[in-house]
Amino acid sequence: MDQAATRLSLPDAPREFGFFMNGEWVPAGDRDVFERASPGHGVPVTRIPTCTKEDLDAAVAAARRAFDDRRWSGLSGADRAAVLLKAAEGIRARADEIAYWETLENGKPIAQARAEVGGCVGMFEYASGLARSLHGDSFNNLGDGMFGVVTREPIGVVGIITPWNFPFLILCERVPYILAAGCTIVAKPSEFTSATSLILAEILHDAGLPAGVMNVIPGTGPVVGQAMAEHTGIDMLSFTGSTRTGRGLLTAAGSNFKKLGLELGGKNPQIVFADADLEDAADGVAFGIGFNTGQCCVSGSRLIVERAVADEFAAMVAEKFKKVRVGDPLDETTQVGAITTDAQNAAIMGYIRQGKAEGARLIHGGEQLDFGRGQYIAPTLFGDVTGDMSIAREEIFGPVLTVMPFDTVDEAIGIANDTDYGLAASVWTKNIDKALTVTRRVQAGRFWVNTTLSGGPELPIGGFKQSGWGREAGIYGVEEYTQVKSVHIEIGKRTPWVE
Ligand code: NDP
Repeated sequence: MDQAATRLSLPDAPREFGFFMNGEWVPAGDRDVFERASPGHGVPVTRIPTCTKEDLDAAVAAARRAFDDRRWSGLSGADRAAVLLKAAEGIRARADEIAYWETLENGKPIAQARAEVGGCVGMFEYASGLARSLHGDSFNNLGDGMFGVVTREPIGVVGIITPWNFPFLILCERVPYILAAGCTIVAKPSEFTSATSLILAEILHDAGLPAGVMNVIPGTGPVVGQAMAEHTGIDMLSFTGSTRTGRGLLTAAGSNFKKLGLELGGKNPQIVFADADLEDAADGVAFGIGFNTGQCCVSGSRLIVERAVADEFAAMVAEKFKKVRVGDPLDETTQVGAITTDAQNAAIMGYIRQGKAEGARLIHGGEQLDFGRGQYIAPTLFGDVTGDMSIAREEIFGPVLTVMPFDTVDEAIGIANDTDYGLAASVWTKNIDKALTVTRRVQAGRFWVNTTLSGGPELPIGGFKQSGWGREAGIYGVEEYTQVKSVHIEIGKRTPWVE
């Protein structure tokens, strides 16, 4: 096929958006407008209003009215499920459009963006079933005079703050579950990647979601995000982003003791034993750090490999890195796209310099790739890494993999757990005892055996240690957005307190 035929074109002009509140689009008016340039091409692609604290107040008020008058929570689970299923259809119908704008704002490959959008359809479909099956409990064992019921009630108005690495996917790992629970939403996407969150609000509206249930307020973290954390009209906040920002939210959320869901950073180990299928493992390890340019909270950024095969295995991974197709995100064949923000590009290159300065050995990559426009970094592999180096300890959030050897199972587990984080981990081995021992003892909210980065709507997401609180997705994800009420029901005549 000729190359041009496999590459989408850039838009002729940036797409103008308003923001979405109380069931309608609100134009930018006299607000500042953020013009986003595509990180893969350096040309403006979207223009999005920068909302203010007053806009946030109006959105929270709309979400509060929509919650309090029970226009959503008062519906049956079946009726809520019908809207979620219609939204799934709406996402499917607009999948190409969503993937296109996601790619333009984020820099990820178009084929990957399409796959992510397909996964989001599944989130809505799965959560629709949960809207119908969510239930409480009953206690029929309290004696003849008492019956106990435990109900699950929606927690209320939920704020969602999302980052720029998976703008649509991360939102869809939350929104359908929150809606299934009966809550209303005010979402703030990253200012760099707001387009697809706004499109989702429109899709939900078109699917019949009542006005005010889903509001999207684009704006900056320090203004709108901070105000959301402090807002007394928000009952729960789901935040995805850096551990640093997440820590700051703990204090802000104290304003009304709002419940916090936090999905934060990771420094995730990939443990490879000599008995693994090394070809599969090398491919998985390359994928685990190359996917989304390593800008994933669950990227497998620390390769911990049995010493007997360490050099051979590092060479196999380097060989995979050489073959990975890095390039224009709009090219259908690209596997690794652009670095999403200028700040992130600078941060990754800073870590690469630091790694060299600290004495790590650069095995592959380590440089910016020049395609004439946009910002790209080659998949990078460091050997001779020690546990005290910053590249081994800090979340780089880029395509940078460090290699550390081990001799025993205990040592592998020790290295894996030697981090403040606990988001995800993988083990590669054909030995069931080793696989289970490592799975049990490594501290991580998500664990993969002979695979990595797998996921889906059924299994929950979240971290141990400083990687966060709570779980998203699966039945656990819906339950997070409910609160439990105990109901004691007396049967028959009361035993009097006052005779
Ligand atoms: P942040 O944690 O700052 O951003 C994540 C989200 O939080 C964005 O929507 C951001 O808004 C918002 N935000 C920023 N400041 C505040 C605040 N004071 N109160 C409330 N919300 C706020 O991440 P960065 O974009 O700055 O990236 C920095 C590093 O964070 C990366 O290098 C990476 O290590 C890590 N990171 C981890 C992610 C993960 O999934 N675990 C995702 C993204 C980043 P806005 O962008 O509009 O300012």
